[in-house]
Amino acid sequence: MPIASINPYTGRVLRRFRPISRVKAEQLLAQAHRAAAGWRTTTFAHRADILRRAAELLRERQDELARLMALEMGKPVVDGRAEALKCAACCDFYAEKAEEFLADEEIKTDAGRSFISYQPLGVVLAVMPWNFPLWQVVRFAAPALMAGNVGLLKHASNVPQCALALEKIFHDAGLPEACFRNLLIENELIPQLIADDRLAAVTLTGSEGAGSAVAAAAGQHIKKTVLELGGSDPFIVLADADLALAAKTAAQARMLNAGQSCIAAKRFIVEKKVLKEFITQLKTHLLALRPGDPLDEATQYGPLARPDLADELTKQVADSVAQGARIELHGGQPKPGSAVFKPMILSNVKPGQRAYEEEFFGPVALVLEAKDAADAVRLANDSRFGLGAAVWTADLQKAEEMARQIESGAVFVNGLVKSMNELPFGGVKKSGYGRELSYLGIREFVNQKSVWIG
Ligand code: NAP
Repeated sequence: MPIASINPYTGRVLRRFRPISRVKAEQLLAQAHRAAAGWRTTTFAHRADILRRAAELLRERQDELARLMALEMGKPVVDGRAEALKCAACCDFYAEKAEEFLADEEIKTDAGRSFISYQPLGVVLAVMPWNFPLWQVVRFAAPALMAGNVGLLKHASNVPQCALALEKIFHDAGLPEACFRNLLIENELIPQLIADDRLAAVTLTGSEGAGSAVAAAAGQHIKKTVLELGGSDPFIVLADADLALAAKTAAQARMLNAGQSCIAAKRFIVEKKVLKEFITQLKTHLLALRPGDPLDEATQYGPLARPDLADELTKQVADSVAQGARIELHGGQPKPGSAVFKPMILSNVKPGQRAYEEEFFGPVALVLEAKDAADAVRLANDSRFGLGAAVWTADLQKAEEMARQIESGAVFVNGLVKSMNELPFGGVKKSGYGRELSYLGIREFVNQKSVWIG
């Protein structure tokens, strides 16, 4: 894909970028490798000062950053500001907590003293998606930098200006330039970087295909990877749930970032008794949301990030309908080639349909009927993905049992699935492996070294 900023709402090309050469990429990797040797010796206090300054800059520049996200990938400015603030909070969180999370851990053994020491790995390559162009990067970069690693960013081709703005924030905050670099490279150069001994590890957030390609290259060269991939999160509604609140949250959960969120609720698994009423209420909430220009303060959801994504979603819907799914709410694209996509609801979603088997990365709610709680869990688990899940019921004990049975990286009971600094984030099955955020996230890219002293 060409590296370019194209406004998905208007189709206007805002700026094109020439990708850097193989030689230039190699030079930047060499600089990062040299910088890593110095950065790993800095104190936590020094790194924290820089991260706190980056947090301040994220807050100061929130309007500018929100505008960039609106222009490059269609996120409403209100949501863009919230994303910048969430990034600032993540920088502050790790500035405060990193030293505690990575403190030596004393372990009783047959030694006079033994402990685990957490030490940085070196240069980490981050391959990132466009859907939360700042947040996806910061939730990797803040813990990685605090741990003493340095980062090379290969961002999605449609958000180059967001990538540059974030790089500038870290540099303006006082981080040595080579400790965090944005590489304007094409995907073809990624295997070359991974093969280089100066690169220690890779993290990728994105689709299954990209994850598999990057992990294969990393596997070949024995490099640590973290993969944050797709999801088709179940949102289970049992008959005893607070239906009004569940339906309202369901609309919110499906429409996160115009439906383009890995942890957006995608499959609504509803007990038969309340199915009809749930669909009626969900429809009302979806229709109440205001679409429009992402630069407009009143807009609640914008276009999809690229027209080809909307075209593909339209095809997924059409194929599912041909396979037996029923349209409960008509919406979709006004015309092929448009990035605009109005919310839709499909019911009668059954095995074998694309709606049952695939991730729908846009505002289409897929409704499945469950006989009871056990059937709901069975349906939730009958998926190649396992990222997040939600359970709605008045019976909290039952909810907890279900939470343990659901195959996913997170389960939220009577609430919206979200990423939080305090809790680990990641998936199982084809949603990937490894964790971001919390103390587990910062321990991904460190050497967990055992020290035994006799
Ligand atoms: P994508 O196409 O996989 O792109 C993600 C990143 O990988 C981009 O930088 C992309 O670069 C790069 N890439 C694509 N193909 C590659 C390959 N063969 N080798 C190396 N790099 C490659 O994903 P997307 O469309 O941007 O994002 C949507 C997907 O990401 C969804 O499945 C979503 O659920 C998932 N996601 C997961 C999480 C999570 O935390 N689990 C969070 C957000 C999104 P180009 O742009 O240059 O192609």
